[in-house]
Amino acid sequence: MFIKRLEIYGFKSFPYKVSIPFSPKITAIVGPNGSGKSNILDAIRWVLGEQSPKKLRVKELSDLIFSGNNNRNIDFAEVKLLLNHEPPVWETYKDFPEILITRRFYRNGESEYFINQKPCRLKDIQFLFLDLGVNPQSYGIIEQGEVSKFIDLSPKERKILLEDLAGVSKLKITEENTLKNLQKTEENLLRLKDIINEVR
Ligand code: ATP
Repeated sequence: MFIKRLEIYGFKSFPYKVSIPFSPKITAIVGPNGSGKSNILDAIRWVLGEQSPKKLRVKELSDLIFSGNNNRNIDFAEVKLLLNHEPPVWETYKDFPEILITRRFYRNGESEYFINQKPCRLKDIQFLFLDLGVNPQSYGIIEQGEVSKFIDLSPKERKILLEDLAGVSKLKITEENTLKNLQKTEENLLRLKDIINEVR
């Protein structure tokens, strides 16, 4: 599995639709300072489910939409990530040789997410990648100056890294969500008992 193509429209410094083909081996992106190289990595981070403005190097999420001065009215930012899915790694999509992940964000704050053109939730995309030990916070994307960070990781951070790689993070998140649901159900049950006692 590898990234085949990245399509960007209206995201950060990209007012026009840009299609970037990736090689199964090495793809290098070169350009002058400030030309948008890191914005391409931000686009990958974002389409994989990143939510933190800080991680995406903006003050607020609306800054992700192109705001330059080119006389174009850009109402939304869109990033599409096309993945080669051969051999398949996701059982649910085993019959799909390609997987297209799409994320869209409108100026009015609305978001849309798609897997293979079908609407889905952000959570579905995040979970898909957690299965592979890839999430926006994981070490799949290593930025400038981050290499030395590996050496300086604390034991706790190293544990998180290993859990990410082993796919344990997904199970932890599922456990957290299940515990929250259990707690809500218990609260609802308690309320229900109170009501029953009142009407008796
Ligand atoms: P360097 O080599 O110095 O690290 P780079 O090629 O990685 O630079 P980026 O950081 O990707 O450059 O791009 C920075 C540019 O993106 C800046 O010129 C900034 O104005 C522009 N930019 C960021 N967000 C937006 C936006 N919402 N609208 C228009 N331009 C934007």
